[in-house]
Amino acid sequence: SRAALFDAENRVKITFSDVAGLEEAKEEVKEIVDFLKHPTKYTSLGGKIPKGALLVGPPGTGKTLLAKAVAGEAGVPFFSLSGSDFVEMFVGVGAARVRDLFKQAKEKAPCIVFIDEIDAIGRSRGRGQMPGSNDERENTLNSLLVEMDGFSTDSGVIILAATNRPDVLDSALMRPGRFDRQVSIDKPDIIGREAIFKVHLNPLKLSDDVDSKKLAAQTPGFAGAEIANVCNESALIAARKDKKAVTMQDFQDAIDRVIGGLEKKNKLISPSE
Ligand code: ATP
Repeated sequence: SRAALFDAENRVKITFSDVAGLEEAKEEVKEIVDFLKHPTKYTSLGGKIPKGALLVGPPGTGKTLLAKAVAGEAGVPFFSLSGSDFVEMFVGVGAARVRDLFKQAKEKAPCIVFIDEIDAIGRSRGRGQMPGSNDERENTLNSLLVEMDGFSTDSGVIILAATNRPDVLDSALMRPGRFDRQVSIDKPDIIGREAIFKVHLNPLKLSDDVDSKKLAAQTPGFAGAEIANVCNESALIAARKDKKAVTMQDFQDAIDRVIGGLEKKNKLISPSE
């Protein structure tokens, strides 16, 4: 629903321990946690705290999770919206939403504003639009730029935005004083996948044969979201068979199912690309 376009969970329970792997990215965003917790430590020497950072990486790699963990670690509210919510909005609505969001954020500062899929509103202006179309997306982007410039660096609002298409973003977003930092979030390697498996195996009832190393080896190319999906599916598969614990075979079946789903998705996408 429209009303739920952004939410203000005052307390985010997610912390860095929920984010497996991504050690470099975590290191980089730790500084943002410190900016939120101890702003005067930085501003006392005349420095300006960055307003925003761009989290760049493929879908499902934990960008949203990491942004929430920053808010959780700093103990500040988390406001979010997704760029895709603004597609096909009526004239003026997108820009008004952005203004509303920033008004709320400034009232609740220090806080994190998270913009998922920023490429949906932040594509470089004048690109790929229909002649004569009323480009509401462009209005929304302009209002985002205006809002970012409109608050001072010591307002305590830090904006994190996520994208898997940094190449299409309007260069105005990357100017100093806007998203002038980039944190790259890659698909996990085998070590990363094992760490992610461990996080998502933790709540499950497992049989003794379940081995996170083997699971990591069997899931090349999987992002964290797919690993989380495998863990959940395997528990459902085991439950359907009235098992008392999830076995390695259930994981095998779940992996096959997730690979099947990915292949179907790729087939659907590729002809139009
Ligand atoms: P998208 O670009 O599609 O929005 P995203 O990069 O924001 O994806 P998330 O929404 O953060 O990805 O990840 C989806 C889910 O996958 C998370 O809620 C979590 O359960 C799991 N996940 C992803 N990455 C990790 C990780 N590094 N550690 C633990 N869980 C992860």
